[in-house]
Amino acid sequence: MYRDHAVLRFSLSTPDDRIALSRAARKMNIDVWDSGSNFTDMRVSRRGTGPFLSMLPESLQTAYNVLIDDLASAIAATYPSMSGFESSKADGSAMGETSAHSEATETTRSKKPRSHQPESLFFKNYQPLETINTWLSLLDSMFQGGLVEKFSIGKTAEGRDIPALRVGLGPGESNAGSSTRKTILITGGLHAREWISISTVNYLAWSFITSYGEDELVSKILGDYDIVFIPVVNPDGYEYSWTEDRLWRKTRQETTMPYCPGVDLDHAFGYQWGPAESQSEPCSITYGGEGPFHAVEAAQLAQWAKNEVQNNNVKFVAYFDLHSYSQQILWPYAYSCSARVPNLENMMEVAMNIAKYMRLSSGDVYTVDSACEGAVAAQSGATSDDNMGSKRQVELSGGSALDYFFHDIQARYSYQIKLRDTGTYGFLLPPSHIVPTGQEMFQALKYFGDYLLGNNGHEWIQSTENQHVLG
Ligand SMILES: [Zn+2]
Repeated sequence: MYRDHAVLRFSLSTPDDRIALSRAARKMNIDVWDSGSNFTDMRVSRRGTGPFLSMLPESLQTAYNVLIDDLASAIAATYPSMSGFESSKADGSAMGETSAHSEATETTRSKKPRSHQPESLFFKNYQPLETINTWLSLLDSMFQGGLVEKFSIGKTAEGRDIPALRVGLGPGESNAGSSTRKTILITGGLHAREWISISTVNYLAWSFITSYGEDELVSKILGDYDIVFIPVVNPDGYEYSWTEDRLWRKTRQETTMPYCPGVDLDHAFGYQWGPAESQSEPCSITYGGEGPFHAVEAAQLAQWAKNEVQNNNVKFVAYFDLHSYSQQILWPYAYSCSARVPNLENMMEVAMNIAKYMRLSSGDVYTVDSACEGAVAAQSGATSDDNMGSKRQVELSGGSALDYFFHDIQARYSYQIKLRDTGTYGFLLPPSHIVPTGQEMFQALKYFGDYLLGNNGHEWIQSTENQHVLG
């Protein structure tokens, strides 16, 4: 399908470059992978490259280099090899037993998974939807007694369940006498092709569950907070990315255009929903639907969250929406570069610390910014009103989950985190990154939990020193 495609990175030096590039891309319906402060990555076919370049101003026609030359091979490399998990996914070896010879351990396998085995089979490869579902059910059944509960937040456009895990003890110690369930929500897979976001949410669930009772800080966090993990908000799209098109981004919901199914869930939520040019065209990969919450999955997620708040005494204190790629930690708002959150200082402080602890975990550098600026940041120093105006003109991003959960659900700390990498593989990140990406995010969330507990990260530092996790 992508045999003659490549991914190019254009270097941008002025806001005009960005506008020209973005117009040409829209005209030719080019798949824009990502953009940062001074670059934009795009997938182009060999045949389409010439015509596309000819639409650009001369200065841009040579201002690119090839990020991924052989897209088809890069895609093939993200699927599991046949020898791994696939052959044993139906049995308990999915739970993290490291033996590759599952027959041999059939009778001796212990019911409780041994503690951290990040090298476990499940995280060696990306996993298809069915396997993830089975794995979540196994986690649920293995940890009875209230710590883990699997449930569905609702059905997709194609009728699949959207699975979720609630991990925690319910009303926390600090809430003795009240029944409030302070909850941290973590979602992945709003965009189907961002497989690393899905594996990372699974890795986080696994890490919190298996660290409970063994890691003092994790036990304290789960004593006071529930964490809800929704690894695949867009199961229809994710399934499609396995069976038909590895680079599919949207849902699979029908639109008014017969050959253009799918809504972009990051533009489908009801806060500041508003179609920018590219978001109103059903065939565009950033199509936001016919109106707010037209996308079934966005409506289900919002409905579930509202119901939790109104009927189940849940208070969402934080929301992390995982995406890829470009290693950015972004806070609201996405819809406008001039709207500011009232708790900006706290939001920035936590974002910078999250980036810091991710770097301490792995050495990987994540940048921090508001979601609007992060997507379209102009060259450093370009902050005049003129530039702000042109940025908005190009990259309006209304209807994001990030903005909705911050504003309407009032999750005080809301972040969209774009995971690895910075463009070498982009969406086609090799599976060898699953565990390290999961680990850096886990360390960041432990810091964040400690911050919520009022320790500003101090206890986190102590506990990591004790356990040498930084080594
Ligand atoms: Zn995304």
